[in-house]
Amino acid sequence: MPRAWNFSAGPATLPEPVLRTAQSEMLEWRDAGASIVEISHRGPEFMEVAAAAESALRTLLSVPTDYAVLFTQGGATTQQALIPLNFAAPGQPADYVITGHWGKTAMKQAQPVIATHVAATSEADNYRSIPARDTWQFAADSAYVHITANETIHGVEFRDIPDTGDIPLIADFSSSIASEPLDISKFGIVYAGAQKNLGPVGISVAIVRRDLLERAGQPRADIFDYRSQLKAESMLNTPPTWNWYMLGLNVQWMLDEGGVAEFARRNARKAALLYSAIDGSGGFYRNEVQPAVRSRMNVPFFLRDEALEKAFLAESKAAGLLALKGHRAVGGMRASIYNAMPEAGVQALADFMQDFATRNG
Ligand code: PMP
Repeated sequence: MPRAWNFSAGPATLPEPVLRTAQSEMLEWRDAGASIVEISHRGPEFMEVAAAAESALRTLLSVPTDYAVLFTQGGATTQQALIPLNFAAPGQPADYVITGHWGKTAMKQAQPVIATHVAATSEADNYRSIPARDTWQFAADSAYVHITANETIHGVEFRDIPDTGDIPLIADFSSSIASEPLDISKFGIVYAGAQKNLGPVGISVAIVRRDLLERAGQPRADIFDYRSQLKAESMLNTPPTWNWYMLGLNVQWMLDEGGVAEFARRNARKAALLYSAIDGSGGFYRNEVQPAVRSRMNVPFFLRDEALEKAFLAESKAAGLLALKGHRAVGGMRASIYNAMPEAGVQALADFMQDFATRNG
């Protein structure tokens, strides 16, 4: 049975060459005499893997030198809890722009430790848009403004970087990092869980402007301190070595394929193909997000006749198209089409959708 086209939102499909390299190195990494997951993270072999991963990531994302790169555990949600601890002083407010489920989650993680303030929200239209920048209102003495660059569940993506003036912009790029060129210098912090565009779940990346690391933040354990983590080269405790290694392979694969400019072109073509399959279906399928902010990575869609959902899922799975069920928070269907999803996979999905609509329309 060949591998299916996997549209899972995360953990998500990984490039086959990356999986094959990992497979070939599983029993023994180079001439280490053991697999990379069986040896010390402080030994020369893993130190080489870790340094190569960071260097490749810096190249892929054009990370400026005045930004630190941290590799952390606990997923993007843990970052959301650590950000207020590290970057807001006791009693200081911070702003959140809520454009979907993950923005709400980010704010919830901050609520126990700071006074969160909603600068803008698209809740009134069920997160189908992004509030215009000139409607945002910041708290006085705000520590930062947090946005979710791409809302994985609601399928809404910022297409411009908002200007927040002197207030550092912190962005959750979990589901769109490395999908196109990005000017990191416009951000205070860019962070992402790995399990969509960067590798397997179990490791996250935080790209932090170094001057922000001078902020005192809140009382916190050393392990939750970005400065301590940076000093320890993200190895204050045992890091997730397998995930770090896999991330490195995946980032190198993206570089070999042509880097973020090439993925931007592929992703634009894939998204155009899928949205036109939806928009051209005469209403059989629909996507409700404002076209200007439709996500290029996560495409939620609904069937006009909800009673057909079960058949759509069963038949798509039988046709080798996996994980198209929408998130329970919004229902319907969703196709996640990250960097590792080839154009052929999206074409197969568009063809299936057209055929299903013809048979059931
Ligand atoms: N932010 C976004 C945009 C996400 O898509 C996700 C996970 N799907 C998260 C945060 C939470 O990530 P994690 O499960 O790694 O904590």
